[in-house]
Amino acid sequence: MKTIGLIGGMSYSSTLIYYKQLNKLSNDHFGDLTTPKIILSSVNFSFIESLQHDGKWSELGSLLNNEAKTLENAGAEVLALCTNTMHKVFDEMMQDISIPSIHIAESTAHHITKDDYRKPALLATKFTMEEEFYVQKLTDYGLDPVIPTDESRAILHSVIYDELCFNITSEKSRNMFLDIVKEVEQEGADSVILGCTEVGMLLNKDNVSLPVYDSVEEHCKSIFNAIL
Ligand code: GLU
Repeated sequence: MKTIGLIGGMSYSSTLIYYKQLNKLSNDHFGDLTTPKIILSSVNFSFIESLQHDGKWSELGSLLNNEAKTLENAGAEVLALCTNTMHKVFDEMMQDISIPSIHIAESTAHHITKDDYRKPALLATKFTMEEEFYVQKLTDYGLDPVIPTDESRAILHSVIYDELCFNITSEKSRNMFLDIVKEVEQEGADSVILGCTEVGMLLNKDNVSLPVYDSVEEHCKSIFNAIL
């Protein structure tokens, strides 16, 4: 298997999920204790988060580009950025990088279209739901994403940054997210994208009535296929 380079820590709670899922996919695939070589570069999320909210995306692009270079020099052969939001600067991150990287929105869109769904609701940070970079990737795959209302987007964004990124989960927030799922279902969504790597801490296939596509799960499946 090729060596995986993960750029993580955005937030640490979701990087934990990547680490667990990638190793589990490997154990399940080989039927034994085989696990891939993973090199993790985990950043200071407080710094990242303040640059995001100050709109300093070109600084963020160079910062991730440095992380990518570090991982490439350390021997990573396949790169993955463990957050949806930061894919806003995916192209900047990949400048002068010669190893391939798996784009999280492409993995997710690929698996949804394979199952023949067309109108996935996108539950994510405001950056991901409101800006072009992610929605455009989904529409490129022929999908017609359903975006939650202003009020619901604000709830999703604040629960993600104020609770889930601190690895905190609460029933109150889970119920608020489930209400948002009902709302997008009424808007015609035929499936749900957990388009933020922490949303799976509250929502999953067992508590959501619509088919669920967890971006972390879909990303990990694509990463694993790429290293085999
Ligand atoms: N992990 C989150 C995402 O998938 C949000 C945190 C971040 O801003 O990177 O979008």
